[in-house]
Amino acid sequence: MNLGYAGRIAVVTGGTSGIGLETARLLLAEGARVAICGRDPARLEAARAELGGDDNLLAQNCDVLNREQVTAFAQAVADWGGGAVDLLVNNAGQGRVSTFAETTDDAWHEELELKFFSQITPLRAFRPLLDRAKSPAIVGVNSLLALQPESHMVCTSAARAGVQSLLKSLATEFAPHIRVNSILLGLVDSGQWQRRFAARENKAQTREEWYGDLARKKGIPLGRLGRPEEPARAILFLGSPAASYVTGASLEVSGGVSRHI
Ligand code: NDP
Repeated sequence: MNLGYAGRIAVVTGGTSGIGLETARLLLAEGARVAICGRDPARLEAARAELGGDDNLLAQNCDVLNREQVTAFAQAVADWGGGAVDLLVNNAGQGRVSTFAETTDDAWHEELELKFFSQITPLRAFRPLLDRAKSPAIVGVNSLLALQPESHMVCTSAARAGVQSLLKSLATEFAPHIRVNSILLGLVDSGQWQRRFAARENKAQTREEWYGDLARKKGIPLGRLGRPEEPARAILFLGSPAASYVTGASLEVSGGVSRHI
């Protein structure tokens, strides 16, 4: 692919694992300069070693819910990248599995904070840098749960719907200079699912059996979970000059699992 990323500055939150890591890898391969963040220092170091990238990669410890850390990350990106950011990918986060009966008020607060402020805090910190770029873009990583809630992920689903609304509003408020789009994920084989596989009840079940069962149970028409590079490619498209007339849109990357038209 040549999507016009050469020399552009891209920021990927949660760029140390799964979809964020693959997004960073593809952006570097396209010639972008990429800044990633994550909370766990060991994971950050492993990602830095894996991605290489020399001065084209900035990897910084940062919790996207910590305003001071996000501000410091944005400052570091400005110093390293020359003061402008062409692409912000708000990807950091994880899902919460619980029904309404199982979800305490504290868990609701925590989940709403994670889903909203993992977007809001980086948006505030990076907005001035995005404003300085020629044709900047934001891509929010969201879930199909925003449109198709699941009762066993009640608070994640509700929060995802709110985030989708937020991103749609921003596409109008930030226009015409900054484009804002989202991807809606189905099930993608990354850190979250690998952890759930490791915690499976029946330890005799192999990886293939467990993932095959999951795809069947979820009724995924393409018959498998997504690979992290598949949503990463969608993120690269939406964030690139190739998508110059696309804003306020969401691209589903789910293997066809949605039931609406
Ligand atoms: P991974 O667990 O593989 O990666 C998550 C990344 O986010 C890690 O780099 C993690 O690093 C980072 N992260 C998590 N919380 C924070 C935080 N507060 N501040 C900074 N970094 C953070 O998961 P995925 O690649 O699957 O997930 C990427 C996004 O896609 C997430 O927002 C997830 O909710 C969403 N998603 C994924 C789906 C899937 O099936 N995989 C389905 C729907 C949505 P560290 O923990 O070290 O901070």
